[in-house]
Amino acid sequence: MRYCRFQSNGEVLYGLVESAGGRDMITRLLVTPPEEVGGDMEDLRTKRMDHIPLQDAELAVPVRPSKIVCVGRNYREHAVELGHDIPTEPLLFFKPTTALNSPGGTIRRPRISERTDYEGELGVIISKPCYKLAESEDVRPYILGYTCVNDFTARDLQNKDGQWTRAKGFDTFCPVGPIVTDEIDPWSGIGVKTTVNGAVRQDGNTRDFLFSLDVVIRYITQVMTLLPGDLIATGTPKGVGPVVGGEVIEVTVEGVGSLRNPVADE
Ligand code: MG
Repeated sequence: MRYCRFQSNGEVLYGLVESAGGRDMITRLLVTPPEEVGGDMEDLRTKRMDHIPLQDAELAVPVRPSKIVCVGRNYREHAVELGHDIPTEPLLFFKPTTALNSPGGTIRRPRISERTDYEGELGVIISKPCYKLAESEDVRPYILGYTCVNDFTARDLQNKDGQWTRAKGFDTFCPVGPIVTDEIDPWSGIGVKTTVNGAVRQDGNTRDFLFSLDVVIRYITQVMTLLPGDLIATGTPKGVGPVVGGEVIEVTVEGVGSLRNPVADE
């Protein structure tokens, strides 16, 4: 199933996304938010609506997480490009939910940073509460779906501060979308690509994860309870780099779509 959230007469609604005549269309309203049914999509109540082409809809952030948990350096070549050792266990950090930004939303570069970087990533959305998952437990029933994330980062502040709250946490620094889908399988290898003004800067694949989603989700749940709707940003492939005001970033996850955001100087 694929779904989005979109603006309609001042309300934000959930919409089912289906392909019709070769185009993606929003075809039904989801009366029940998908993160409220614990992954049992048969329990979703839906309602008829006039179909809207997805590309014409004013899309909202498709997730409403209680927290955004991110994995740093989950691709070997990205760790190397930043001059770090290859991690031996996942490196976790948070982005605040106030950093969330919708598809098409402007990313505002703060004046106090001289270098801001895009980081295209696969996003994982949690379907039901999970805590201290055992080695033997399959993580897939706890995954509602997947989306694109841009883990936008003030690189100079990240290096200066030594911890990452400020560098990762500015408002608008977490674009997510355009849709959520459960129709892809990151275990089999999913392309994660980033362009700036149309030029390819990152072209990775989830088969190169240092830590698979099993390891990452189990590792997080040894610390904290993941709740329905929580978002995990799974790390960025090599090729990160700076952007400035006026440029446009597009993060594409194979089978999800493209998350496009302009950048503006504050
Ligand atoms: Mg990242």
